[in-house]
Amino acid sequence: MGQCTSCTEEDQEIQIEESQNASKDQYWKTPVNKLTKKFIPDDKKTEEALGDVEEQINPKRVQLAFSKKITEKYHKRKTVASIDDWIPSQKEEPESFQEYAESDYNKVSTESHTVYIQPLDTSMTKEFLSTCQKYCLAYFYPLPVVISKFRDITKSKIRNRKCLQGFVQYHSGDIMKRAKKWIPDDAYCMICILNMDLYPQDSWNFVYGQAYLWERTGVFSFARYNPEFYGEDHGMSGEELRELVMFRSIGTMVHEIGHMFGMGHCVYYECAMNGSMSAEEADKQPMQLCPICLRKLWHNIGFDPLERYQALVEASRVSSSFDETKGWYSKIVRHLKKIYAKEVLEEPFTKDYENNINETSTVKKQS
Ligand SMILES: [Zn+2]
Ligand SMILES: [Zn+2]
Repeated sequence: MGQCTSCTEEDQEIQIEESQNASKDQYWKTPVNKLTKKFIPDDKKTEEALGDVEEQINPKRVQLAFSKKITEKYHKRKTVASIDDWIPSQKEEPESFQEYAESDYNKVSTESHTVYIQPLDTSMTKEFLSTCQKYCLAYFYPLPVVISKFRDITKSKIRNRKCLQGFVQYHSGDIMKRAKKWIPDDAYCMICILNMDLYPQDSWNFVYGQAYLWERTGVFSFARYNPEFYGEDHGMSGEELRELVMFRSIGTMVHEIGHMFGMGHCVYYECAMNGSMSAEEADKQPMQLCPICLRKLWHNIGFDPLERYQALVEASRVSSSFDETKGWYSKIVRHLKKIYAKEVLEEPFTKDYENNINETSTVKKQS
């Protein structure tokens, strides 16, 4: 059982030390701080973790998307800002591409390749769910992503209690047991989502979420991504708050689904698969996958990287909180097109999964 991202026994207040937070944008140019040096694999190990792309990746257009030129221009190496960050606190072993490829991860197949999102409480609007779906369709391109019919947790007999903040909290293990019965045959995985808080066992204050990788099910709560959960005086307008919660929720969702694809936490680059100890640390993570994690996903799904990036540019129009992400994807799309124009290349390479034609073409048509 993978117990995800930010399972903390206490509500932790993390202080980021400003002084140690400077070198983030200039990893390649300036010396990194001591913590980063101590906890982050060096350049050589990072290169090895990606593997010999020229030797190992075919077709050429995919190989070029993983080239050093692209990697160095668009991806920042991971830095550690504080000893309380996820990496120093958890001391997880790095997972290279090779280790992933040799692991017993759940493989996408023609029989089971649909990602299901199961909403568990009626406070999630249709608009919110459709935004989640649109983004996941591009992120896990070209797999179909389906929003399952609402199941109302408040009407179930799932164990619950009140959390410290006074809200109702549901037992995540109980939800997972039910989810095993709900998961459709053609599912690659099913992620249950809710705006109510979760706890994994009596002695824990709360948990953000949990996933059973081998049962292909997971559950995740967005409750704590809303500053109002903690009674914070956030000073945001309703619209700003909605955008923030949306951005955090989708970031969490793609991270969690990434775990369902068998990917561990990333320690190499600033990456959507970085672990985080708090919403604050999670806020600093990019929505994008680094080359190592992207290679893992590509290895499992098989997509044309340019097509996926194009789909992500379109999907990033869902909300203005994605503008920065959209800018990043747009740049890499332009750059890849330029590189491809100079080379004699094969046709776009995307595995053909039946049933997904209509859904992915909705994303594609807009581009
Ligand atoms: Zn995680
Ligand atoms: Zn990564």
